[in-house]
Amino acid sequence: MESGAGTLDAMETAPSRRLEDLSGPEIAERITESSVIVQPIGAVEQHGPHLPLSVDHVIAHEAGEAVVAEHGETSDLWLLPTLSVSKSNEHAWSPGTLWLSAETLLAVLRDIGRCIAATRARRLVFLNGHGGNSALLNVACREVRLAHGLMTFLVHPFVPPDHGGTCPETELGMGIHGGHRETSVFMHLRPDLVHLEKARRAVPEGLASNRYVRFGGLASFGWLSNDFGPDGHIGDPTGANAEEGKLLFETAVALLGEQMAEIAAWDFGRS
Ligand SMILES: [Zn+2]
Repeated sequence: MESGAGTLDAMETAPSRRLEDLSGPEIAERITESSVIVQPIGAVEQHGPHLPLSVDHVIAHEAGEAVVAEHGETSDLWLLPTLSVSKSNEHAWSPGTLWLSAETLLAVLRDIGRCIAATRARRLVFLNGHGGNSALLNVACREVRLAHGLMTFLVHPFVPPDHGGTCPETELGMGIHGGHRETSVFMHLRPDLVHLEKARRAVPEGLASNRYVRFGGLASFGWLSNDFGPDGHIGDPTGANAEEGKLLFETAVALLGEQMAEIAAWDFGRS
């Protein structure tokens, strides 16, 4: 896989695994009990002065396309249209950010679950590109499981450090939004939309000495992205580069492929 364009080529030369490209009768024939339905979920939200609003949408969309292109046949994956607007209210202060309330997004996910439950598919995966959605998506997994009987899953192309992921040491565990890795991945996927000359270090260093109340600490806290400074990103994008982004993206897609294989075989440990 060379790039986002390579993903597109793969999708166009192989038979489509986008659910929307099937006809009604084909859905009945090709979507079966073994099918895994993948719902990419992005965001349209400010990412600091160096990145466009579309970052999470693009990453979720491209990761979804790539994992289905590379692993669709082996794990019977089917791709839904990317849900671009999600729960980005930590950026509500920044005009241009589009966000759904928690109640609205949960209702949307319930409705999507209801639609998938009308097919023969039994597995629905939320592929989440925005950390601000994670808590709600875990709630949605259980809600959709209870309401519609689907097996539900939540996967991430990239796990931010406040949710157990890692970042370069220089970001002090706080490269969570528009920082080194996210900017690098976006430079790989959409180099024309990155303005690295505007990138600035924005790490709330005062939190680094806290033992408990910090990103990823035992005590969590409610936050808005302008609580830490005026720029809106949290991390240090100044050394971001497309080569590292390419490696990060390809590694993420490979890991997602392995997760999809386990999801395709999932039966709650029953034998
Ligand atoms: Zn992001």
